[in-house]
Amino acid sequence: MVNRMVTPTPFPNPTPVSTTAIFTPTAFPPLELAGCKAPPEDYTIVHVDKWLLNQRTYVTLQYAAKLYQVKCGPEPCPVDITGSAITQGSYSNTVLGSFDTHACGGAVDLSVISQTNPRYTVLYNEIEPLIHALRVAGFAAWFRDLGEVYPGSPLHIHAVAIADKQLSQAARDQIDGLSGYLRGYSGLLAKNGTEQPDPHGGPIICQWMRDAGYEALSQDGRNSWLIDPLTDWHTELSTISPTYLAPLAEGTPHD
Ligand SMILES: [Zn+2]
Repeated sequence: MVNRMVTPTPFPNPTPVSTTAIFTPTAFPPLELAGCKAPPEDYTIVHVDKWLLNQRTYVTLQYAAKLYQVKCGPEPCPVDITGSAITQGSYSNTVLGSFDTHACGGAVDLSVISQTNPRYTVLYNEIEPLIHALRVAGFAAWFRDLGEVYPGSPLHIHAVAIADKQLSQAARDQIDGLSGYLRGYSGLLAKNGTEQPDPHGGPIICQWMRDAGYEALSQDGRNSWLIDPLTDWHTELSTISPTYLAPLAEGTPHD
């Protein structure tokens, strides 16, 4: 190892700051999250495999798939959310235990169980990237674990399109109801009847959602951005962005 003389770089003299200048605070407009894009208000029914969706939901799902694809790079992502992963669509009452959330528009369930090698394994590492992609695209979305919805219910991602004009009341309640997404809850009540915190962080709000009347809410229904700085856009943005900008940190609580 050769010792080298290091000449320290002199720090520039600090520029004197006028203490007499009057600082006028500027009101910042809410930061728009990168990726926000309003879906088309097209309620044409489309058939995807054996399921029904409206075009608005399907386009939002396609957009979520694009966001999710960022995580997978050039490889196909392991969960095909616009096709084989769909395990329940909208306009459907065929699956027990959905409490009518799928009875009208905007609702979709997605499997996170591998159908390829190795088969029937739960793709836990895909869950959070998928939830984020679905939320940025415009869904209230949560992972539902085995037995979480009713005894023996399958594990899946349940997603409800925000501001879909054909939502059932039950689906709408999961967005802005008392135990809903916009209030930072899971959309499901615990067995003792209490709300459960959203396990994926707070809601992601885009300007188009606000324009449609969907704003993050506190428990008493007021605008939470004005009350709780922890759910402020800036915090939200810095939490979400690295998911898309850098390879995912390895490991999830389920690993
Ligand atoms: Zn569902």
